[in-house]
Amino acid sequence: MYGAIKQVLARELESLREQGLFKDERVLEGAQGAEVRVGGKTVLNFCANNYLGLASDPRVVEAARRTLDRWAYGLSSVRFICGTTELHTRLEQELAEFLGMEAALLYAACFDANGGVFEPLLGEGSAIITDQLNHASIIDGVRLAKANRLIYRHADMESLEHRLRESQGAPFRLIVTDGVFSMDGDFANLPAICDLADRYDALVLVDESHATGFTGPTGRGTPEKFGVMDRVDLITTTLGKALGGALGGATAGPREIIAWLRQKSRPYLFSNSLPPVVCGATLEVLRICKQDPEPLHTLDRNQKRIRAGLTALGFDIDPGDHPIVPVHFRKFANDAILAQRMSRDLLAEGIYCIGFSFPVVPRGQARIRLQASAAHTGEHIDKLLDAFALVGRRHGAI
Ligand SMILES: *Cc1c(COP(=O)(O)O)cnc(C)c1O
Repeated sequence: MYGAIKQVLARELESLREQGLFKDERVLEGAQGAEVRVGGKTVLNFCANNYLGLASDPRVVEAARRTLDRWAYGLSSVRFICGTTELHTRLEQELAEFLGMEAALLYAACFDANGGVFEPLLGEGSAIITDQLNHASIIDGVRLAKANRLIYRHADMESLEHRLRESQGAPFRLIVTDGVFSMDGDFANLPAICDLADRYDALVLVDESHATGFTGPTGRGTPEKFGVMDRVDLITTTLGKALGGALGGATAGPREIIAWLRQKSRPYLFSNSLPPVVCGATLEVLRICKQDPEPLHTLDRNQKRIRAGLTALGFDIDPGDHPIVPVHFRKFANDAILAQRMSRDLLAEGIYCIGFSFPVVPRGQARIRLQASAAHTGEHIDKLLDAFALVGRRHGAI
């Protein structure tokens, strides 16, 4: 039996390699941080979601160690049997409070939060109105719901309004968007989305995975940045990016919705409890986020320096202020090859970053996506800019 599918898969894998679409994994030989060991060499990491540098912050590591000593390792249970500790309930309260919501619910990942939020809330006849570029986990979560799915063109408020008009008869409607879109680092237009939601009587869900902890004046996220914290109904987010970077996700919102999800959301009900060590460390992360604004300010300074430096060198950078900084090659016919070769040569120069091309981004929009971190020093950024100048000239990109 295995013979047939083995041959098909071998052929398909070969075809991925031929098209340059095969994803190889580089193996780290030590902890995540501004500097990482790869291939026996220490290089500067500009492609992690470690926005606040908390993945290896000594305060977070120490909190994890303390929690491990007291609560041991695993829980071997889902939440409603014997997998809820006081750490879980405290973390849910603290997350809700941090996000400006009444209640929150933990998941093993934000992928699961998005997988479990639509189906229990939006049944047959209801409508989910979703941005074309929303994260894969939202796309999958929406598929699981019986509600109608209406897709609007990315960030296009006219297209969104059109979809709202089309779905006027639905008993419940939900607009869902990423707060920050990961390939461009662009923000959803939340004030306009909330205005349309008011006008057409729809709920708003924002996935804050690339925002929680560092976007907005105190890091509460995209709704804080745009002054609409009281107008967003639901937030999903991850503990696996800025908030320490281990794993875990959450949905936050009104008390009744969270209570309903606790009863009905399948990835919550039928999957294991988060390890206490993750809860204990994340509680420390939230304490740091609330009491120590330094990483937030450092991150902002760093993304500004990277954007200004690359622009001055003549690279193609969109205006913006998110730590995701895409370096485009839109003027070049061979953009995909350029992005790939430059990222390869940058690694040789001690800069770890990744080139993205079709199908991850549309054809003709290949890029190197840089991500700033509060863990980067001024010296790290100088090295990044020097390497980009050298490699960019070598390949005729500047
Ligand atoms: C990373 C990401 C997720 C998935 O988060 P995990 O906790 O790693 O599963 C979901 N949504 C968005 C927008 C993301 O960027």
